[in-house]
Amino acid sequence: MTKRKNKGYKKSGNKRNNPEKQNNKQHSPQGKSKGSPKTTNKPPRGRKGIIAEVTCTGLTKEGKGVFQWEGKELSVENLLPGETAEVIISQKGRFTNAELKRVIKTSEDRVISPSKYYYERGGCQIHHMSYEAQTRFKQHTIDQLMDPFGKPDSIITMDHPYGYRNKNTMTFGMNKKKQIISGLYAPNTHRIIPMDGSMIHDPKADEIIQTIKGMMKSFKMQPYNEDTERGFLRHVLVRVGKNSGEIMVVLVAASPMFKGKNNFIKALKKEHPEITTIILNINNRSDSMVLGDQEKVLFGKGTITDTLCGLEFEISSKSFYQINPVQTEKLYSEAIKMAELTGNETVIDAYCGIGTIGLVASQKAGKVIGVELNKGAVRDAIRNSKRNGVKNARFYQGDAGEFMVQMAARGEKADVVILDPPRSGSDEAFLSSIVKLKPKRVVYVSCNPETQARDMKYLVKNGYKVKEIQPVDMFPQTVHVESVAKLVLK
Ligand code: SAH
Repeated sequence: MTKRKNKGYKKSGNKRNNPEKQNNKQHSPQGKSKGSPKTTNKPPRGRKGIIAEVTCTGLTKEGKGVFQWEGKELSVENLLPGETAEVIISQKGRFTNAELKRVIKTSEDRVISPSKYYYERGGCQIHHMSYEAQTRFKQHTIDQLMDPFGKPDSIITMDHPYGYRNKNTMTFGMNKKKQIISGLYAPNTHRIIPMDGSMIHDPKADEIIQTIKGMMKSFKMQPYNEDTERGFLRHVLVRVGKNSGEIMVVLVAASPMFKGKNNFIKALKKEHPEITTIILNINNRSDSMVLGDQEKVLFGKGTITDTLCGLEFEISSKSFYQINPVQTEKLYSEAIKMAELTGNETVIDAYCGIGTIGLVASQKAGKVIGVELNKGAVRDAIRNSKRNGVKNARFYQGDAGEFMVQMAARGEKADVVILDPPRSGSDEAFLSSIVKLKPKRVVYVSCNPETQARDMKYLVKNGYKVKEIQPVDMFPQTVHVESVAKLVLK
């Protein structure tokens, strides 16, 4: 067990404070204080907002630094407990905004982030914290959420917490100088933060995306403009089989009219012979979904394969596949351990995606029944079970809750239910069917411990006992925590 420092964390975040972006120019987290800055509560002339010197007392669950100002609890990005800083406080309607100006006294938990995009958070909310501090922060988050059920185990960390993503997306656009840019959307906006890579992306994927960006001008390929609805390329998604080395490139375009397609593909393959398949995806939606429904394979077989826990999986562009394979193996092995399989059990793999957990479990179970909403993923699951010679697993398409209600109505039996729902968690139909089916063990895998705790509360009220909770760091540099819990029938 690692020692945990609980000092300096906050129970909840501050909802009133909504800083969108930080001050790029003046903020110097490593910088030394030049003299002692004064705190003033009057707006200085010629400036919007008030500059205040504050001390950070904790962190919100979004990883922002909490401080007190004029009796209000506010929070600001990129500030750590124990640090003092100058912040610019302004009022926007009902919201009090805080923006970091400069850090005066730095915490020993602060690191110079290896990310070039230090000041703008392209997907990494806590990359300014040492990995040890990130781990402490996540352990604290999970300990608080799971307090009603007992003490969670120590979080399983990642040895090299960078470059882990196997699915990497960048959005394309144009800056004011009419230069093509690639990057990630700033939080809660459609403003692109120009980036040529990310510390959590697969480096090869970022390299390919930059090659595409570099090729666009000579191929007269325009980035799509959301306002004018003109242009072609919206996003590029690169999926990498971390074990197989196979690489899928998905060009997400606003229209199927791809001028100079053959030459573009030829040139891209020449630059990156490691690409194994290229897909054109058509997306004319106006929401923030990356992929549209229509798809055309331009090169290769349209899928990639990868190995996970000794099994081979075929993955298509739209299927859900865990994005951090190194940590997924640890997560699945914990889940399988908690299922306590002896070879005879009937196991339900609910929200099964392409069948990964169920197929791993099938090696040790009597029979596996998988259920998943996404048709393509179910097709992949069936294909994956054949590919691995699995004879004792069946996969069904449908809503997991409805499927369980029907199973319970037919009086069917299950010994173990493994569930891995999306962030919104499970629902009452599903949970009440568990209560009717009475599996001896429930293994709940979750990427959102808040909804996991909510659902576990229901199961605990209805005859189950929480035996173990194991957090796993699947998303280093971000605030997200994965957790797997074992519940047994009382
Ligand atoms: N267990 C898989 C997938 C987990 S992600 C893995 O580890 O890879 C959650 C999955 O739940 C997604 O594949 C999503 O398509 C599916 N899903 C979402 N809502 C669902 C519902 N109501 N019923 C069944 N599956 C659902």
